[in-house]
Amino acid sequence: MCGIVGYMGKRNAYDVLIQGLKRLEYRGYDSAGIALEGSDGRLRVYKAKGKVADLERAVEGQDISGTMGIAHTRWATHGVPNNVNAHPQCSQSGSIALVHNGTIENYGLLKTALMQQGYTFKSETDTEVLVQLIEYVKETNHCNLFNAVRESLRQIEGAYAIAVMEKDNPDTIVAARKSSPLVVGIGEDETILASDATPIVAFTNKVVYLQDNEIAVIHRDRPLQVLSLETNHPAPVDIKTLQMSVAQLEKGGYDTFMLKEIFEQPETLRDCIRGRIVDDGARVVLSGVLQNKQKFLDVNRIVIVACGTSWHAALIGKHIIQDMCKIPVEVEYASEFRYSGPVITDKDIVIAISQSGETADTLAAIQLAKNKGAFVYGICNVVGASIPRNTDSGTYIHVGPEIGVASTKAFTGQVTVLTLLALCAGQVRGTVDAGTVRTVAQALARIPDTVRDVLKLDEEIQKLSRTFTYAHNFLYLGRGYNYPTALEGALKLKEISYIHAEGYPAAEMKHGPIALIDSEMPTIIIAPTDSLYDKVVNNVQQVKSRGGVVVAIVNPGNTAMQEMADYCLEIPEVPECLTPIVASVPLQLLAYYIAKNKRRNVDQPRNLAKSVTVE
Ligand code: GLU
Repeated sequence: MCGIVGYMGKRNAYDVLIQGLKRLEYRGYDSAGIALEGSDGRLRVYKAKGKVADLERAVEGQDISGTMGIAHTRWATHGVPNNVNAHPQCSQSGSIALVHNGTIENYGLLKTALMQQGYTFKSETDTEVLVQLIEYVKETNHCNLFNAVRESLRQIEGAYAIAVMEKDNPDTIVAARKSSPLVVGIGEDETILASDATPIVAFTNKVVYLQDNEIAVIHRDRPLQVLSLETNHPAPVDIKTLQMSVAQLEKGGYDTFMLKEIFEQPETLRDCIRGRIVDDGARVVLSGVLQNKQKFLDVNRIVIVACGTSWHAALIGKHIIQDMCKIPVEVEYASEFRYSGPVITDKDIVIAISQSGETADTLAAIQLAKNKGAFVYGICNVVGASIPRNTDSGTYIHVGPEIGVASTKAFTGQVTVLTLLALCAGQVRGTVDAGTVRTVAQALARIPDTVRDVLKLDEEIQKLSRTFTYAHNFLYLGRGYNYPTALEGALKLKEISYIHAEGYPAAEMKHGPIALIDSEMPTIIIAPTDSLYDKVVNNVQQVKSRGGVVVAIVNPGNTAMQEMADYCLEIPEVPECLTPIVASVPLQLLAYYIAKNKRRNVDQPRNLAKSVTVE
């Protein structure tokens, strides 16, 4: 979950590493640390609880010279966030420093064994066990750092991306990965490694994505060396060109990344759709589907696996795929999927949705699905991430880097791609008529402009948000396509404002949550003019009869709802299956402004991290 950066070159390593940590801070931000090595061979380690800014304050006045170093921003799994548990973790003698993303499952056994050899431990982390083990192996085998790291990793069970450096060796960083991401950027006379490409793009666009069970040696005077951890044989160094610009990573004049990303949606949706709707909406072209037509013709069932916001997108996807393709669809939490005895066959298609493409539970789920013979299809944002590399086919959502921890533009991108997939596969299967394809595809092609119109509600929502800043509980209701929209709206509010919110299918409310309704608990109702509109009106009636306060997301002309609700937000009318994209935008803004009113750090909400690369 954390972020790792490493640098070797001619620049001041500290500057590059701090800048890189700031780019990666979305991955974890409970503590941060840095290890630098100068020409004097000394290893200088600085750490601080809190944000990267706290680390910067902690090193003020210290020696930050040196052209090589490693750094870390942590999302604790083992041990509370404090200075001692922050990374880099150092070996007993202080001669080896290591940063780690992941979890070491057999750390308890290894720790006991090392303690029997006289090692003492300062931190509560699993990571310290690994760095101590490396020192132990190095001393007992009289080997170099590379061999000690390699040998130690062979004894480790769990997930890791690591970078290691040692005292008196200012020319070598050893890095390795298994189940956690690591990218190496190759510049002119410099190398920068990181958990994702964002810290690298300012220096070079040439990158190597390390594969699982690979170990890399970054040496000042030699080209990057990548070897297999198992065989120790050289692995191919496949240099890719990054398609990302520094400008995409900046806030672009907005207060926060989240607000920028909400407002970017007209452009990101355009990028997501580009080239995929052709012949004036008569055809939808998704190469991942078209190149695998037979799979979509033979399929018995689709299972979508995802976590968090992606799981909400999956629920919308289920509805639209069933509508357009007449294939039964099941949606599973990736984290539950593999422990639920899933019955998967080679007639199933498993779709994995993950913004980062690195979600550990989703990766594990697709591995299981592959082992059972399913055709696995990925829907991800980050190009070249682990999920797209480990699936049979897939579609990128192409919404650009999402930095705000609470997902916004990735959600609308995921729903868009699922809609395109449903239309394209429906055409392949002959289960959707030409008129429906054209109506939905044309409306989807216009969605960037529709969302631009919805964003004009910004000021109105900002005003409305003040009414609700002090509410302790919210209920979000929707039906059909917009039940998942309600779940997503509630999740946004919880994530960034820390207000309890529950999303519920509107009609199910009377089986429980209705008991909670009073004038203190606002109800947000998503009620566009769709096939269930009249029923939703009844549900709102039930809320109003119990003194509830209602905010309704409506289409122009929804007079019944407008008369009943206390506040209305009007969104343009679109085909029913597209309403979640349009209706989720005001919910993003509402959550955003309530959180801002409460002075929350919306880009880095407490306890959360952007991509969950641990189980
Ligand atoms: N397991 C390590 C720790 O708790 C690393 C966690 C992370 O990936 O941030 O320190």
